[in-house]
Amino acid sequence: MSSIIQLLPDHVANQIAAGEVVQRPASVVKELLENAVDANATDIKLIIKDAGKSLVQVIDNGKGMSVTDSRLCFERHATSKIRHAEDLFSLHTKGFRGEALASIAAIAHVEMKTKQDQEELGTQIVIEGSKFVSQESAVLPKGTSFAIKNLFFNIPARRNFLKSDTVEYRHIMDEFQRVALAHPNIHFTFYHNGSEMYNLPISTLRQRVVNVFSGKTNEKLVPVQEDTEIVTVQGFVSKPEFAKKNRGEQFFFVNDRFIKSGYLHHAVMAAYDGILKDGAQPSYFLYLSVPPNSIDINIHPTKTEIKFDDESALYAILRASIKHSLGQFNVAPVLDFERDANLDTPYHYKDLEGATPTIEVDRTFNPFSDDKVNKHYSGSNSSSSSNSGSAFAYKKPAQTASWESLYVGLKQEVETDFTTENTEFSFESEEVTASLFNDEEVEHAVQNVYQIHKKYIVSPIKSGMVIVDQQRAHQRVLYEQFLTNMTVHQASSQQLLFPLNLYFSVNEMELIEELKLSLVNTGFVFEETNDDHVVISGIPVNVTESEVSIVLEQLLSDLQDGIPENSFSQNDTIAKSMAKSLAVKTGTSLTIKEQENLVNGLFACKDPNVSPFQKPTFITMRVEDIDKKFAL
Ligand code: ADP
Ligand code: MG
Repeated sequence: MSSIIQLLPDHVANQIAAGEVVQRPASVVKELLENAVDANATDIKLIIKDAGKSLVQVIDNGKGMSVTDSRLCFERHATSKIRHAEDLFSLHTKGFRGEALASIAAIAHVEMKTKQDQEELGTQIVIEGSKFVSQESAVLPKGTSFAIKNLFFNIPARRNFLKSDTVEYRHIMDEFQRVALAHPNIHFTFYHNGSEMYNLPISTLRQRVVNVFSGKTNEKLVPVQEDTEIVTVQGFVSKPEFAKKNRGEQFFFVNDRFIKSGYLHHAVMAAYDGILKDGAQPSYFLYLSVPPNSIDINIHPTKTEIKFDDESALYAILRASIKHSLGQFNVAPVLDFERDANLDTPYHYKDLEGATPTIEVDRTFNPFSDDKVNKHYSGSNSSSSSNSGSAFAYKKPAQTASWESLYVGLKQEVETDFTTENTEFSFESEEVTASLFNDEEVEHAVQNVYQIHKKYIVSPIKSGMVIVDQQRAHQRVLYEQFLTNMTVHQASSQQLLFPLNLYFSVNEMELIEELKLSLVNTGFVFEETNDDHVVISGIPVNVTESEVSIVLEQLLSDLQDGIPENSFSQNDTIAKSMAKSLAVKTGTSLTIKEQENLVNGLFACKDPNVSPFQKPTFITMRVEDIDKKFAL
């Protein structure tokens, strides 16, 4: 039989290798930025167009390349960074495989300009899909510029696979932030479609973190510093009350290289043990220096994972040093805590667990109605004035009022009070659900709903009883309400007396900008959107002022993986997210009226059976089943 094995031509091999190295424009950004850093540049510019799909350019003032090197650098396994296998164990550079440029050149149009300091002239090379198109001498500034155009031009499948510009842009920003945070001694600028997104002058580490994540970051940071024989730890962690819901601002750098490590993340979380509520995420920017020969960075192709020689020691040191820093912070004047107790930071919100934030007006209060519910309500209200400041007085009316307010705008029948005289409520939904309730029973019952374990609402129905999950039910009600507001009619909004200034990272501001239209449809009024903050002068009727930042923060964290392309799913995502943030939580006591409103509201929904997240909202139990249990 004849032999069939062949060596692949270089350009095919390069294209295959490219598949590993270059997944998206952000991969190109990473490789080019790292090369510029390795070239000892002190000034690096990143310029992209259309989220890198049409252009990624990196200009540095580093050491440049000789004529020979400028050609060689596009060869596979061409690197100036290691010569022997042993060099791998003492790496001080980012690159070492020598395959990035070869891979990029295989799948894009590349224009490179480079000049070494001591040379008169530099070299300009054009290469397209691994083919050299031209090479010329030219008058150039010191350093190197790589312009990568039309990525994946020769692999349409890959090109089509790219996500929306927003998503691709966010990946690029992630890479940019990682490199910029690792090198405060380099001046970075970043332009997207002609606008300057970042301009980060050479600065201290702390200033760099603040410059990358907006001015508000400074007050959140607690410094961490620890020198031991096996590792030096420095950097910052966030004060517990600034913990976020998402993991957006968590960075480990080992020897100036960004890495991901679930294990070290765990060490950080362990240091926060007991001071963070479940699920809250601290921000951290931690820089570890270890002897290069104690790590293996070669185990993962994208090189964001590292294997350490003595991971458990690292864990212990990291946890101890952060605990120590947080402890020092805790002995600082408690003024900060006092003040923050009344602010609606996410941490504060989590701390209350289940208590819905405070509200100014009770919109359902009716001075002419004398039912028990209102008495109960005004009762707790007056207790708050006589006893203001105590946790109880603060929490109780807040819960009730806020909760009630969530129903403002609901259909009339939902507002109807059926404990008193009402026997004929009509439901929007089909007969089946409406007849779930036994009218007769309603008429005679004093109390028709009963809350158990601050979690479920039990109510008798014709066939037996229904048990409603309060949180999921409320999510469903709010979700449908938001969707209707957004799609059918313009939502009404409540004007704020004093506009709210909310600060976000550049990253988050981008998202808000994209979502603005949909948010306006829910009732938000944006007076201003800036680089790092928004000024909100109107909010949806069913959101209270103190809930706004929670709602937006949750929304941004729900959109970590990108904004849906079409407006329908955009609305859907927003409605879901807002329903999730605003729904009454398990653990909240509800008044009888609130319970009734909720149950009625649920069964007035188009799809009452499941929460917006497809979880069952209620179960029913037939009398026969109950009988059976007693028959034993
Ligand atoms: P690696 O970085 O792994 O060595 P690359 O393909 O990224 O592989 O780069 C190949 C070589 O090209 C590098 O080793 C370096 O010598 C040279 N090079 C790449 N970018 C630059 C730059 N911006 N300035 C100077 N030299 C560069
Ligand atoms: Mg490289």
